[in-house]
Order: sequence, then structure tokens, then C-alpha cells
Amino acid sequence: MNAVPLRNDKAVNGHVRQVTVLGATGSIGASTMDLIRATPEKYQVAALTANTDVEGLAKLAREFGARFAAVADPSRLGELRAALDGSGIESGAGESAIIEAAQRASDWVMAAISGAAGLRPALAAVDRGATIALANKECLVCAGDFFMSRAAKAQACILPADSEHNALFQALGSGNRDELTRVIITASGGPFRTWSAADIENATLEQALKHPNWSMGQKITIDSASMMNKGLEVIEASYLFALSPDEIDVLVHPQSIVHGMVEFADRSVVAQLGAPDMRTPIAHCLGWPDRISGRAAALDLAKIGQLTFEAPDYERFPGLRLAYDALRAGKGATTVYNAANEVAVAAFISGKIRFGGIARLVEGTLNAAARDGSAQGPATVEDALSIDHNARNIAATLLPQIALKAS
Ligand code: NAD
Ligand code: MG
Repeated sequence: MNAVPLRNDKAVNGHVRQVTVLGATGSIGASTMDLIRATPEKYQVAALTANTDVEGLAKLAREFGARFAAVADPSRLGELRAALDGSGIESGAGESAIIEAAQRASDWVMAAISGAAGLRPALAAVDRGATIALANKECLVCAGDFFMSRAAKAQACILPADSEHNALFQALGSGNRDELTRVIITASGGPFRTWSAADIENATLEQALKHPNWSMGQKITIDSASMMNKGLEVIEASYLFALSPDEIDVLVHPQSIVHGMVEFADRSVVAQLGAPDMRTPIAHCLGWPDRISGRAAALDLAKIGQLTFEAPDYERFPGLRLAYDALRAGKGATTVYNAANEVAVAAFISGKIRFGGIARLVEGTLNAAARDGSAQGPATVEDALSIDHNARNIAATLLPQIALKAS
């Protein structure tokens, strides 16, 4: 709970908030821009970034009058300059330009780049003590201890934007750390919640991309189908709120209305509810420490009628069990878990492995990294990225045998 900021001096009321959106062209980026669009007089956009989508980036930069726009692909600089011609908006390209976007002065940063690629840019915002809405869970899973201690040192304020963690953040205020007994994060169960292990093994990309409740980027949608996303979120909760694996439970809740709950010693359970729309947790972060108007549909529980809950099945969804194993094994193992999963998802998307191979590749990589001792807890960003790099190499080496093996 050390990461939870107090209602303090970061008030937004009364003055224009300078905002930066890292990953502005993605799903979280679009939800963030949609909230800003609703009350543009409250915000000044300092910087926006994208990976390769120059057209989308330039369109947003022009619409919001951004000061700086950066594209990660260095070969796109000319294209970006041309798209921004005459606007007076400064531009840059390459990883250094993404980092510059994070470093430039602003009050609030949305960290919504996907994958471990978001780590260095998020750290650049951390180091200048910004208020950061953290959507990018992979950077915590990759280097959580290190990330949170850098944030504490720089007095950066980390606001959890992931819906479950945002729910916990809202509920945690109801008691003190020593009164907390456990937290519960919910999972929709994804499109394969009721499927047999054999059907999950052979699920297609198209089936994995059909999330029942949430509309999200491709990687996280596949992670939701494998429940690796919930595994990443268990690890994320552990680092964000300084919780042991035993203090974090997962509950399958197919309607995705209750996002997270905190149980206290007196057996009170405090929950946060809302429609499954990322604009609600993002609005909570954007307004912090005040509440702003949301853009999601109002919650109509009478219409929904029933909220149901079930225990997760660790046999059909081994990725979730592996997340707990990685947390218990030590800090470097969570870096390996994330890296191997990124490789596995890319391999599944390109048809190199079956859906069931995702968890097998992650497990094989975790075991191999444990054997060669390469998964010690990262003490620097270079350590984290080197464990990440090594794990990607191990995963790539294991890929051919995973491709052939059925469960
Ligand atoms: P997305 O794929 O829709 O968007 C990713 C964004 O990051 C895009 O703007 C893309 O251009 C940029 N990007 C990708 N690779 C990059 C790189 N190498 N360098 C610089 N920029 C790069 O993803 P998303 O669904 O918006 O998710 C973003 C992050 O938020 C992920 O970490 C995800 O786990 C987390 N998250 C997403 C949701 C959701 O509902 N979408 C919910 C909770 C958490
Ligand atoms: Mg989530």
C-alpha cells in the first residue's frame, strides 16, 4: 500500500492540467483522448506518442493542439513532419523521442504503451516526479520493485489505471494497511471460460480475439483469453500495493461489473463497481484527487439483474498458476514471465504455436531461466531489460519444440 498516494497537493480544480499521453493511438490512448475531448478547456496536451501510426498521431496532435508529437519508428520522421506541416507542433522519432515526450514538462502522464517497450518512457516520467496514470502493467511485471522505488525516490505519484487495480486503489482508502486481510481482483474468464481444455488448446486467433465484455488492444485481448492477463495483474497488484501472493485472490466474474474488492480484518469487503469501460478508471486517474464527469454508461444493475462469481480453474488456465509461481520464485521470475508471454503471444498471432502453447512456452522459459540462474531480481533498468532479453532468447530457442508438442 506504500504506493497509494494521499489526497494531497496534486489538485486539478481551478487550473489547466498539462497532460502527456504515451501510446495515444492505442485503445487506452483513445479512451484518454475521449475524456480530454469532453472538457478541452481543462487540459493542455503537452506531448503525444505512437509506435508507427503517423496519420493517427498527427490527427490527434492537430485536434488537441499538442506541443510535441513523437513516433517510435525512426524511419517515419519525414512522414510525421509532413503530416504536421504548418501546425507549429514539434516532432521527433525513435525511442529517444518517445523518452523526450515523457521527460517534457507536464502534470499528468498516461503510460499506455503496450509491453516492456513502455518501461523506459514510463521511467522517464517517473524520474521527473510526474503524476502517472499507469496502464502499462508489463513495466511493473518486468521491473516492479525497481519501478516503485524509483517512483518513491522521485516522489512521483503512481495512479493505477488498470481497472482492477484502480478498483483496489479506490477501496483501499477504507482501512489501514495492517487492517487489510486480502484483495480480490475479478476476471471475466474471457471467451474460453466454459471451454474444455482440449478446445482451448486448439482455439484460433479469431476466437481468442472475441472478448465477451471489453474492447481492448490485441495483445491484452489474447492475454485475457489465456488468463495470462490476470496473471500479469496479480503480479502488478503485488508490486503496486506491496502485497504478498497470499494476500491476492482472483475471482471469475463473467459480467465484469465488480472490478476489485478489499477485505479488511472486520470481514468488511469494500468493492468498486462500474460498467466495463476503461474510461471510468481513466477518468478517476485524470481527475485525481477530484472526481470528473465520466463518459461510460451509467451502471444499471436492475437491467443487468445478476452478478455471478466462480473460482478460477488453474488447470484449464495454467498461465494464472504460473504467475503465482513466478511471484513466489522471486523478482526476476516475473520479468521472465512477462517476456516469455510477449514472445508466446507474438508466436500465436503468427501461427507458429497453438493457443495451448502459450502457457507451455512461458512455463518452459521460467524453468530454463531458473536453471541457468539468469532470473535474479533486477536492480537497474539495464538488469531488467537484460533478464527480459535473455528470457526472449530462451523462449525463441524453445519455440520449435513447443510448436510440435500438444498438451
Ligand atoms: P494498444 O495495442 O491498443 O496500444 C498500444 C499503444 O502503444 C499504441 O499507441 C502504440 O502505437 C504504442 N506502442 C506500441 N509499441 C510501441 C513501442 N515499441 N514504442 C512506442 N510505442 C509503442 O494497447 P492497449 O490495449 O491500449 O494497452 C496499452 C497498455 O495498457 C498495455 O500495457 C495493456 O496491458 C494496458 N491495459 C489496457 C487495457 C485496455 O482495456 N485496453 C486495460 C488495462 C490495461
Ligand atoms: Mg485489467
